Amino acid sequence: MLATRTEPVFSFEFFPPKTEQGARNLDAAVRALRALEPAFVSVTKTGASTQAETIELVRRIRADNDFEAAAHFTCAGATRTELRTALDLLRNSGLENVLALRGDPPSGEAFAALDGGFAHASDLVEMIRSDYDLCTVAACYPETHPEAPDAESDLAHLCRKVEAGVSVLITNLFFSNAAFFDFERRARGAGITVPIVPGIMPITRADQIKRFTAIGGITIPPNLLRELDARGDDLEAVADLGVAYATLQCAELLAAGAPGIHFYTLNRSPATRAILSALRLLRPWETARS
Ligand code: FAD
Repeated sequence: MLATRTEPVFSFEFFPPKTEQGARNLDAAVRALRALEPAFVSVTKTGASTQAETIELVRRIRADNDFEAAAHFTCAGATRTELRTALDLLRNSGLENVLALRGDPPSGEAFAALDGGFAHASDLVEMIRSDYDLCTVAACYPETHPEAPDAESDLAHLCRKVEAGVSVLITNLFFSNAAFFDFERRARGAGITVPIVPGIMPITRADQIKRFTAIGGITIPPNLLRELDARGDDLEAVADLGVAYATLQCAELLAAGAPGIHFYTLNRSPATRAILSALRLLRPWETARS
């Protein structure tokens, strides 16, 4: 899709719900976002869910809709045999797209591969390339993965991961387009040619975003921080700011030639719907062509 695109490729990320209410919220979000005709959606593999649950959710979303769907796969807590079993299930479910990840350790612990498991996402990518015919997507970090000692070694590992068989990269969330453009330039300079899709999370809650950015080493630009702080505990005002900021951020990225936008929806539809509706009216990618 990305290789043959004539328009940007928009995608939405969901997570497997933990409760019945969560399942209803997810169904409502998928229904609401369906009208925006995403190219694909993806479903994460969380610590609280199994790989089989992610696959089943992806299978169901794909069967009920006209768009493609990708399953996130994590190495964390799985042996190679278990990963193979899950990949077999994915293939037998008729799915063709995987987001191959290492996964995170439980909070506060250092990542350790299981005995007979994989230590890096590139190992999983390698397994998929050698034994499965799947389109493999992987993660990248414009502001460097938090465990990496420096940006150079992180980029060198990313190059190895792409060479192992990655077709598309999706970035971690970021709020500084300058950081993305700098990363993209360095990645291209290092020989990475696959599409790099910006991952954008519309801010809906100030406390949540401050927590995510602190853990992930992600910059909140001073103007955004100032506006966030000015809104204090006013949730509605923060959410409005989140939509406005993400719309401007995406417009600049698309005008600069970004191949699409992957929205971290957090299983909610209003912000993503507002941003994408504005982008489709504005069509900033046409500026990129002219
Ligand atoms: P890797 O590519 O393995 O990199 C992890 C670290 O190891 C980096 O610091 C890298 O520099 C280093 N490294 C890589 N290869 C080597 C090597 N050969 N030698 C030494 N060091 C190396 N997490 C989930 O649990 N579930 C999800 O569904 C999920 N979805 C995500 C989707 C996206 C788009 C993104 C950006 C992240 C997602 N994550 C998810 C989070 C991800 O699992 C974590 O960020 C994790 O810490 C790293 O995963 P990775 O695949 O980037 O790992």
